[in-house]
Amino acid sequence: MDLIDGNKIASDIVAELRAEVAQINGRKPCIALVRVGEDPASVSYVRKKEKTAAEIGVTSRILLPPVTITQDELFALIDGLNADPSVDGILVQSPLPRGFDEVAVFRRVSPEKDVDGFNTLNLGKVAQEDESGFVSCTPAGIMELLARSGVDLKGRHVVVLGRSLIVGKPVALLALQKKSGANGTVTICHSGTSNVSALTRQADVLIAAIGRPEFVTADMVKPGVVVIDVGINRVADPTKKAGYRLTGDVHFPTVSALASKITPVPGGVGPMTVAMLMKNTVKAFRLRQVR
Ligand code: NAP
Repeated sequence: MDLIDGNKIASDIVAELRAEVAQINGRKPCIALVRVGEDPASVSYVRKKEKTAAEIGVTSRILLPPVTITQDELFALIDGLNADPSVDGILVQSPLPRGFDEVAVFRRVSPEKDVDGFNTLNLGKVAQEDESGFVSCTPAGIMELLARSGVDLKGRHVVVLGRSLIVGKPVALLALQKKSGANGTVTICHSGTSNVSALTRQADVLIAAIGRPEFVTADMVKPGVVVIDVGINRVADPTKKAGYRLTGDVHFPTVSALASKITPVPGGVGPMTVAMLMKNTVKAFRLRQVR
């Protein structure tokens, strides 16, 4: 079994981006990171993004509106960033506090600055295989992990567990694209799918993104499967200082014994998400230079 090392692959991408940004004379690419409220996971995600941006030489602008901000006020803040010529990319950290219409907020971000890839136009470009848009970071990171691990999806059955707009649907569309490295035959499972195991057992490549700790067990996969575990779940564990441990959607100890390649949690897909955000930010900067 080969471990797909997301930390290593993400750090390779960060190094490539650092070299690319070092070549830019004058103003460097800039990302605005908007975090509403103090959700602990969001605090740590934004901190990580800020740190990675600094490593690459991307400028980050951190905006921390209070949880009491109204949706209209948040729209006004986003409009200001959309119009600001010194900002290339905008990320509004998800999840937003209860009461916000998250999809409406994502739509408010200008498609040209939508480095998170959640705007309707950019999601549509994924379906149209139009590479001028931004692919959302976790699905893009999964495709990059596969490509850099030598996994070609052509002729292989890719089973995706989950159909969220953030992971499941876009990664299924990417795996399906008629292009080199992709070209997979794709099945998507969701909570309405009957007999999920019968489908996962047919997978040559299994992408699990359902948010259920250790849902995929050894009896659900075939020997030699490539497993990408997107899940990040907190499971209570009194032996840990934090009182919990992180686990994926896959039961790693048993599934890894059968898999030909597998991502760990943490250290698999997670680090790729931030690296791809930075890649999108540099792309947004470049596209704005030629417009
Ligand atoms: P989500 O929006 O909650 O979507 C979960 C999907 O799984 C839904 O489509 C749901 O079906 C499906 N599902 C739930 N239970 C199922 C079951 N028993 N059988 C089959 N399908 C089932 O979650 P998400 O945002 O996609 O995130 C999924 C996981 O990935 C979470 O653990 C999240 O923390 C993690 N994640 C990680 C990263 C990263 O950077 N590594 C980024 C994003 C998310 P329905 O549509 O029918 O409800």
